[in-house]
Amino acid sequence: MKLRRLGKTELQVSEIGFGGEWLERHPEEDSIDLIHYASAQGINILDCWMPDPKSRDIIGKGIKDNRRQWYIQGHIGSTWKDEQYFRTRDMKYVRPAFEDLLRRLQTDYIDLGMIHYVDSEKEWEQMQHSDYLGYVTELKNSGVIRHIGMSSHNPKVARKAAESGYVEMILFSINPAFDMLPASENTDTMFAETFNAGLKGTDPDRAKLYRICEENDVGITVMKGFAGGRLFDEKHSPFGVRLSPVQCIHYALTRPAVSAIMCGYDTKEQVDQAVAYETASNDEKDYASVLSNAPFHSYRGECTYCGHCKPCAAQLDIAMINKFYDLATMQPEVPATVRSHYEALEHTASECIGCHACESRCPFGVPIAERMQKTTELFGR
Ligand code: SF4
Ligand code: SF4
Repeated sequence: MKLRRLGKTELQVSEIGFGGEWLERHPEEDSIDLIHYASAQGINILDCWMPDPKSRDIIGKGIKDNRRQWYIQGHIGSTWKDEQYFRTRDMKYVRPAFEDLLRRLQTDYIDLGMIHYVDSEKEWEQMQHSDYLGYVTELKNSGVIRHIGMSSHNPKVARKAAESGYVEMILFSINPAFDMLPASENTDTMFAETFNAGLKGTDPDRAKLYRICEENDVGITVMKGFAGGRLFDEKHSPFGVRLSPVQCIHYALTRPAVSAIMCGYDTKEQVDQAVAYETASNDEKDYASVLSNAPFHSYRGECTYCGHCKPCAAQLDIAMINKFYDLATMQPEVPATVRSHYEALEHTASECIGCHACESRCPFGVPIAERMQKTTELFGR
């Protein structure tokens, strides 16, 4: 299992993670066994947003024997009221729910203390001087949570978090369908039976979020990487074609700043399907040809960082160079971090010999040689 650095937290997390939301659907022993199985496959990061006692007890028992090998995303503000999930900032509920999380997980610390689910800009602003944030800060200062994270589906809110200085990582919803959607405070728009996003390529707010996370060293873990399963079915996919789990995972893991994708599992076979990413061939990972041949798509001319154009005659990592170019040109001046990452590349765009051989392999018709020239002008090498 490949490990990736989760931004400024410096944690080395497995690129395939564990989203725990389905654990309560099964007998306790089976779910505990599933956690042990995932750990044996090298998965070391687990998201627990669920406030229900059953899920929390299962996770506690599942990680008990090797707690220190796990990185837990534990949510603050996801509470349990009248036998139901209840999202709140009211300290009357927040504090007992977090204490319950620690107790049921049989631990005295949470690696990533998540500000739970902020999709509204107004709520983000209100939270800044609240008892709730005071509590999160107190948990961090006392070492009960090791890092502060936040979960969101709205790129505008997630961006504010990435710029805040105190949010160290973000759990964000990413897949090729959502990436086209404009920012919204209503997640229903993302899961609508049909959505009319106009299919205009990557939404600028989302691209900006990736850029700011990369620049501020705020790592991203991914939720909803399969768009709730609709990408697996050509009838529900907005592209009119199905993608495989491995292709969706590859898409998520090739976005800037992304460290891990949290997949939900019902069975060991599903763990195997996700972990199969680690040994998958380039053809199996290739979401690009599937999307570019789909009846509906709008990524024409846009680099999706798929790597399909390899190999380059001059050994350039074209996808990576394009990623740095995009990150740099989204703002008036090239940020120092992007420049230093670009300069650390073994081969830079100026080495392009303009052979155009790569262009026939790009499913999205990116004028690569021209972009290499522009990149050389931008970075001076
Ligand atoms: S055009 Fe440039 S980037 Fe493309 S294969 Fe040739 S040398 Fe590589
Ligand atoms: S230039 Fe085309 S083939 Fe190469 S990484 Fe970008 S989208 Fe993929």
